[in-house]
Amino acid sequence: MLAQESIAVLERTLGYRYGAVLLLDDSGHRLAPFALSDQGLGAEFVDQDKRYVSSRGVVVGDGITGWVAQHGLPVRVGDVRTDARYRAMREDIRSELCVPITIGGRTIGVVNIETPELQAYDESDQAVLEIVAAQIGLAIEMKRLAGIDHLTGLANRRVFDATLETESRRMARSGGICSILMIDVDHFKQFNDGYGHKAGDQCLKALAGVIRRTLARAGDLVARIGGEEFACLMPASDSAGALAAAERLRRAVEDLATRHAYSPVAPVVTVSVGTATGECGAEGLSPLLGLADQALFEAKRLGRNRVAAITVPAVD
Ligand code: GH3
Ligand code: MG
Ligand code: MG
Repeated sequence: MLAQESIAVLERTLGYRYGAVLLLDDSGHRLAPFALSDQGLGAEFVDQDKRYVSSRGVVVGDGITGWVAQHGLPVRVGDVRTDARYRAMREDIRSELCVPITIGGRTIGVVNIETPELQAYDESDQAVLEIVAAQIGLAIEMKRLAGIDHLTGLANRRVFDATLETESRRMARSGGICSILMIDVDHFKQFNDGYGHKAGDQCLKALAGVIRRTLARAGDLVARIGGEEFACLMPASDSAGALAAAERLRRAVEDLATRHAYSPVAPVVTVSVGTATGECGAEGLSPLLGLADQALFEAKRLGRNRVAAITVPAVD
């Protein structure tokens, strides 16, 4: 949505041809297409073009866009044939204007416009594009912040639900299994009552750090989904993997050794974990989430500071 809008601003509102927004990926070494011109040919064309640009692999430091991403400085070229940095994606291009998108001084991507016309852009175009880039950066940052839990820095419930949806759709297409972990702090009300809400917040922060370090493999999503409840979505993870991860986490929390004199379970803060593993059924992954919650309830019932698992051959 945001991507399409940024291109609409560049092309339809400001009248530029061939606009593109490229963002640095997690490695910081490559630029991935975020928004590309549809050239009047619709969304399918954009998807195709995104695959093409991705396959060409825009590496930071390479080409004009790569140079801008590396140096965080704008580049305006009136005839790309005279610029050694230029790497042609389209043979007929002559002018290119590229500016960095920065957030708090950090470059996160570039906005690029190009056209077959020679000497097409001047300083005022550059000023306009810099404003557009600032707006795109702001919108991306706002969107990112809206998905982050303020206290712990983990993804929030909104992101977790949205990711569950996306993963449901992906699994509906390609099959396979996944695991969900639900984590709940044991007797946390007593912790708050005994040590105060501020200490409770500190404890949640520390727990979030342990959860992130212990669980967040590439592809996994760790989120704070409630006050003292966390969840982890593990695509392609089987029940043995989920159980091992849950047990590793349970022990890591114990090893943190945060004193909890008011807990009847242990002298330190502990967590209970429920895991559910299965396929994606007709109703998506929310039944699996329900089962993870059921497993968590079972772990609580059996005495807390433990892991309980549910595995199903099919969830519908
Ligand atoms: P159980 O072992 O059954 O999970 O018991 P519990 O006390 O952890 O569960 P309960 O649901 O009764 O209480 C959860 C408590 O977590 C209530 C509240 O005091 C605390 N809590 C929830 N969110 C926050 C938060 O953001 N900060 C702090 N400090 N405490 C919170
Ligand atoms: Mg709870
Ligand atoms: Mg609790």
